[in-house]
Amino acid sequence: EGRETRLRVVLRVRPLSCTETRRGDQQVVHSLGDGAVHVSAARHDATFGFSAVFDAGASQKAVFEGSGMRQLVELAIDGFSCTVFAFGQTGSGKTYTLMGPLAQSDTQPASPALLGLMQRSFTCLLEQSRSRGSDLALSASYLEIYNEQIRDLLSPGPPCSLPLRWSKTRGFYVENQLSVEFDSLETIVSLLLQGSQRRRTSAHALNRHSSRSHALLTIHIRSRAHHPTTWVLQAGACPGKQGTLCFVDLAGSERVKETGSSGELSVEANSINRSLLALGHCISLLAKSRGKRTHIPYRDSKLTRLLARSLGGSGVTLMVACISPSSRCLSETLSTLHYASRARRVTTRP
Ligand code: ADP
Ligand code: MG
Repeated sequence: EGRETRLRVVLRVRPLSCTETRRGDQQVVHSLGDGAVHVSAARHDATFGFSAVFDAGASQKAVFEGSGMRQLVELAIDGFSCTVFAFGQTGSGKTYTLMGPLAQSDTQPASPALLGLMQRSFTCLLEQSRSRGSDLALSASYLEIYNEQIRDLLSPGPPCSLPLRWSKTRGFYVENQLSVEFDSLETIVSLLLQGSQRRRTSAHALNRHSSRSHALLTIHIRSRAHHPTTWVLQAGACPGKQGTLCFVDLAGSERVKETGSSGELSVEANSINRSLLALGHCISLLAKSRGKRTHIPYRDSKLTRLLARSLGGSGVTLMVACISPSSRCLSETLSTLHYASRARRVTTRP
């Protein structure tokens, strides 16, 4: 608590897909063990290190246990603001890692072995809640950022854009977002499904919409402190702890170019994906040592405003970088690896 903590960055390499195997793509990414990964292809030969590397053979359970996700859930129960975000190009396995393959099929429920970090975290959270005699009040909100507009994925009816505000006590927050209470796995999983279906429906309206939107599911955890001598306390004298656990499924990172010039950056930002560029920019600046840091431009996008606390402030953050092992994805893979390596230098003070 209060100590500088590095962002925890883990890497997941998905298996080659059937299409990739059929057309004979080379596998250019190899896990070396101990968190090291090697990329070798013509004119490229590089090794990167992470807190953990999960290769094609890693199960969903192994990713949950080895990524530090369980500890993140426990910290959120203890009142910290915890965030896990999945980053990588479209098709690299972000949604699979967070939710498992359920997002792809409406009718068949996914096998329990394939459930992602989110469902596993919910289970862990509810178990903890039961073992503490249900003194945790849990609620969820689910938002999508598309084209710099925030949409509530839980509220029924036609989507409308919600305002993002700032206050001294709350920091940045979304006004009028729906927050739904839950106390069972069925309820929270069905909220997740409903929300991600809303997100997906719009994918048909516009080409590649889903890869252009960021989805943020936040679990709010309030612990009602137990006091055998409550009668002594005035109401509100002991407010209890309040933590959050936020899952961020980022838009596909492809086509987001690294450029040094702010002029070019802003042109791309306007036309392509302002949020991801702003996030990359904030991460680059945050990765500098505290003494050399300049102003961090969180206000440049809605995504960075919403992630300000988890990235630069008092949050605990886990980043899951996702890549394909295929030679055809080489340049995007290298860009994800560089981005993720830079993120490892970011520190927060939980
Ligand atoms: P993204 O969300 O990054 O665009 P997806 O999670 O939708 O990518 O993954 C793309 C495809 O690859 C999906 O069909 C998914 O089921 C499959 N996939 C991704 N990761 C894995 C994995 N670790 N094991 C098996 N299949 C995977
Ligand atoms: Mg996805």
